[in-house]
Amino acid sequence: MLTTLIYQSQLSAECSDDFLRILSREACEKNRSMQVTGILLFNGTEFFQVLEGEENVVDTLFSHICEDLHHTDVVELMRDYSAYRRFSDIGMTLFDLQKIDANVLTDEIRHMNQVQNRDLPDDRVFRFIKRFITQGGWYRSSEGFKSSQWKMVSNEHSRKITLPSSGQTSLCTFAFQPIVEPISGQISSFEALIRSPAGKSPEELFASIPPESLYSFDLETKAVALQQAGLMLRTDEKIAINLFPGSLYSIPGSVTLLVEQIRQANLRPDQVIIEVLETELITRIDDFHHSLKEIRAAGIGIAIDDFGSGYSRLSLLSKFQPDKIKLDRALIVDIHKNGIKQAMIAAIVKYCEDMGIKLVAEGVEKQEEWCWLQSIGIRLFQGYLFSRPCLNGIGEIHWPVRVS
Ligand code: C2E
Ligand code: MN
Ligand code: MN
Repeated sequence: MLTTLIYQSQLSAECSDDFLRILSREACEKNRSMQVTGILLFNGTEFFQVLEGEENVVDTLFSHICEDLHHTDVVELMRDYSAYRRFSDIGMTLFDLQKIDANVLTDEIRHMNQVQNRDLPDDRVFRFIKRFITQGGWYRSSEGFKSSQWKMVSNEHSRKITLPSSGQTSLCTFAFQPIVEPISGQISSFEALIRSPAGKSPEELFASIPPESLYSFDLETKAVALQQAGLMLRTDEKIAINLFPGSLYSIPGSVTLLVEQIRQANLRPDQVIIEVLETELITRIDDFHHSLKEIRAAGIGIAIDDFGSGYSRLSLLSKFQPDKIKLDRALIVDIHKNGIKQAMIAAIVKYCEDMGIKLVAEGVEKQEEWCWLQSIGIRLFQGYLFSRPCLNGIGEIHWPVRVS
């Protein structure tokens, strides 16, 4: 299948004109033999390349390109399929943006279009190329946030608390995981994650509960989480609990019960955040609306969990705005290599800034992911990179420290 792949990368060392010329000559012959067209733009620091050819050939070529040491930070920006070749089979052409006027270059690329009856300026690939020519590179991590400049250390901020098991642990136990603000070295809150008494996952535990009592089980077990949090939290710290929206709207007096659980745990309502899943919220937003008002009136916070995993999320956000949005892990994985996810997250960051909503990146496992997310403006993080969930307590916390 005919594929178009666009990536961006950074020049790794000082690059002489000779090097660029040799590179493009070699690539030109290689590409031609594989019937791949490459358009390589270079602006002095960044490369931007369009590759057009058969899917498996382009894929193999791209994996070699990713390993090439002449450049770093390879970010895939776009991958699409096409019914026709946009550009004739020219091997590779290099354009040095430092030596050629932007308008002249745009025209030149337009004339490389071999499909005369199609209007290239209307084409997405062409608009992408034009964007690079006029605006330069994609969302790069800023200078101070290269992954190689940081290492993770467990320093004096970390604390290890093992709580006595509560009397209700015959029902369940909880693991706690911190949500951290790495730059200030502060813990923003803790999330309580339910486990079976034997330590099994929420999924397995919920599967063992009869469906008709699932919601009341969910609600009642929050007393255990809140009790433990009450023993563990400082007065300026917060606890996030997870609830099915149904546990709130289908049980009469659910919010009153939660408020009572919070009081008995010696916590204040403003120390508690309820996390609800985006997918479930979307399907039952009208049912949930009444509970939402009660939660707000009681002074309890509300977060949308796994944001980006559901559908019609924009219409959800037009109906209600939470205190906090937690980005689904699927959006976070390898964010530093994926330009498509980068553009989406950049837009969500802007929306949350404008609306005063806190944004948390969840499931961060790699230092490169954290660096990219931190430099686009996200401040709050949760994930194995910082700390794993710990049964009946808080595990070791690793903080990023600058090494250069
Ligand atoms: P969630 O609320 O999105 O919780 C985060 C999940 O991601 C947790 O899984 C946590 O262990 C995991 N996680 C955290 N950091 C990382 C990471 O860096 N990499 C990866 N791969 N995973 C990470 P867990 O504890 O298995 O919980 C799964 C889900 O179960 C939760 O997702 C939440 O939706 C639900 N859940 C947990 N406790 C409760 C509860 O008391 N009530 C209800 N209704 N649902 C709960
Ligand atoms: Mn959650
Ligand atoms: Mn989540």
